Amino acid sequence: DAAAVLDRRNRSYAPLQGHYYAAPPRIERGWKEHLIDTQGRHYLDMVNNVTVLGHGHPAIAAAAERQWRMLNTNSRFHYGAVAELSERLLRTVPDSFDTVLLVNSGTEAVDLALRLAKAFTGREDVLCVQESYHGWSLAADAVSTSTSDNPRAEETRPAWVHVLDAPNSYRGTHRGAGAGEAYARDARAMLQSLADAGTPVGTYIAEPRNGNAGGIGLPPGYLPAVYDAVRRQGGVCISDEVQVGYGRQGFYFWGYQEHGVVPDIITVAKAMGNGHPLGAVITRRQIADALASQGSFFSSSGGSTLSSRIGAAVLEVLEAEGLQENAREVGSYLRAELEALADRQPLIGAVHGLGLYLGIEFVRDRSSLEAADTETAAICNRLRELGVIVQPTGDRQNVLKVKPPLCFTRDSARFFVDTLEEVLSNGW
Ligand code: PMP
Repeated sequence: DAAAVLDRRNRSYAPLQGHYYAAPPRIERGWKEHLIDTQGRHYLDMVNNVTVLGHGHPAIAAAAERQWRMLNTNSRFHYGAVAELSERLLRTVPDSFDTVLLVNSGTEAVDLALRLAKAFTGREDVLCVQESYHGWSLAADAVSTSTSDNPRAEETRPAWVHVLDAPNSYRGTHRGAGAGEAYARDARAMLQSLADAGTPVGTYIAEPRNGNAGGIGLPPGYLPAVYDAVRRQGGVCISDEVQVGYGRQGFYFWGYQEHGVVPDIITVAKAMGNGHPLGAVITRRQIADALASQGSFFSSSGGSTLSSRIGAAVLEVLEAEGLQENAREVGSYLRAELEALADRQPLIGAVHGLGLYLGIEFVRDRSSLEAADTETAAICNRLRELGVIVQPTGDRQNVLKVKPPLCFTRDSARFFVDTLEEVLSNGW
């Protein structure tokens, strides 16, 4: 029946949005990190970085139902949940942040962040990095460089977007101990040449961990040096936390904390609504005022009564259930087990990531680092047959991204590692 429903969907719905598999299972129910399809088959959800609290969380269902029955309006009305959610968000960031704007998605958060930065600096030019994804709107797409999401990214790029090499110290142009400084030098050179050309950069946007390239960490020293160089030239820095933020990395609530930097603007979404559409921009009042003096911002459902009530409940549960700590503990266990597996399985070139944001990079040869892309796709398909839903990522499609709900247990981690070992040992 999954095939029949997919066929029906394909006749009325645009084919642009792909699924995890060519013949995807039709998922009917979810509970914590587990999914069940219409045939009653169980799967471990290793890929859902939206549902951070886990599927079917009763406290969120109750908060949503209560609010929906009481009131749900467009966001111009005055109600208490916006302040409650904004205050909760501001408690997670340093004092330099004092202002929140609520939207419906990561794309909208990025688009609004770019607008704010442009209004504040009065500059149009934006610096971003290779192998990135920031969203689908015209502006967010313009700063998204990942060729797997957009094969024509380079030819369609507007003139105001400037792209640095991905600071990838595993397979990039600079590797090893001095990689951070070497990449930072490249960034300074580009900033200088743009300033000399009369188009100084106003905005730097990047993830604080190279999420869409497979969870690869930034080399030490890189981000502080780039932030410093951008600011010296009068620019502002956006940390796109849509994927890596909100406690997923276990050791940090926000990804930028790993690097000892504080951005000017934070973008967040996915996790915020535990599956309900919700995103935010967190910034300084001065930056928000710059846009207010030049234009306006309004989103009918961004931060609606329902969305902001759900957002506040998600943060409350995340804290009450200690899910960031769980991500650290279970993620560290999972990472150690995957590294041990890499000692036995030469196809695993590296295990990237932190907490419950891991990437398993498959290579055909550990010295040439030739990407094992077809193998990765086949491994994903075999894992699915064995009850694990996971997906390849990155420009080379050779990294398994591991991003389960943050309630993930050691037992589930063990099941995943054992199943992966079975696939790698017995063939796919
Ligand atoms: N930024 C990053 C880093 C993302 O990973 C994504 C989504 N994959 C987005 C922005 C866009 O978010 P959304 O899909 O909610 O629009």
